[in-house]
Amino acid sequence: VSTDDINNFKQIITSNGYRLTMAREATFRLLVSSEPQSIREILVKAKNANVDRVSVYSNIELFEKLGIVHRIYVGWKYKLELSDEFIEHHHHLSCLECGKVIDIEDEKHIDKFIESVALRAGFVPRRHLFEVDGYCKDCATRTTTE
Ligand SMILES: [Zn+2]
Ligand SMILES: [Zn+2]
Repeated sequence: VSTDDINNFKQIITSNGYRLTMAREATFRLLVSSEPQSIREILVKAKNANVDRVSVYSNIELFEKLGIVHRIYVGWKYKLELSDEFIEHHHHLSCLECGKVIDIEDEKHIDKFIESVALRAGFVPRRHLFEVDGYCKDCATRTTTE
């Protein structure tokens, strides 16, 4: 976890009038990950870090409200990932079979396209989601050969 991320996190919490507690900072640290995580994975880490379940749930709820973390839906389930405030904006390909979430990087034309659509409608875009559900390479071959 970088100092920049921690400082950025503290700034968002306090500037929105919330108290910076040990449990909140600990929960934030659990969310820092190279890959989107399920609640179950986060709870396992929380147990090892001695952060109780109830605080994890309530802090994540607050973090979602403050735009610190967001959900990536995979079918009807979801994983959590830090927002664009912390990691570079990107999109995902999510596998409905194994739950793998693949980052789509360096596809800036997607963003340019979305922006131009918004501008043409006279709309000022602030945020967008662009996610693809389907089957990853491994699962796609498995389902077609069965
Ligand atoms: Zn898969
Ligand atoms: Zn985008």
